[in-house]
Amino acid sequence: MSFEERISCVQWNNNDLNHMIERLSDINDMMDEAVENDTYTPKIKELILEKYNCIIHDIRKLQVITCGVCKKTQSISSISIKDTEFLTIKSSWGYFSNHDCEKHEIVLCCDCYDTYLFKGELGKYINVTDYC
Ligand SMILES: [Zn+2]
Repeated sequence: MSFEERISCVQWNNNDLNHMIERLSDINDMMDEAVENDTYTPKIKELILEKYNCIIHDIRKLQVITCGVCKKTQSISSISIKDTEFLTIKSSWGYFSNHDCEKHEIVLCCDCYDTYLFKGELGKYINVTDYC
């Protein structure tokens, strides 16, 4: 398989950030290989850049949610994942509060929610009901 064919065969799942990062790494390896083998021609450079830019474009379109504590990330293809697998606590504190004009926000994954809130001091105040 020629170098051009190998580059054109690079495909990725545009809903999976880690998969796209792996493909960028593959492209980087291919570029290193071309430079090492002295085959890094303007045509190869153009093909590599084109593929690279396509992946970067898809990464920018992807929405990712990150836990503020453990930094676990997850791609969110729909708003329901954001609401069912992460918790966002958010407030714009007003005058006469303890935090005048401050915006506070934290996103927690389910594991961190369990550790720091649900099984923590506040857990006993959390109202739990079934919704299924
Ligand atoms: Zn977490």
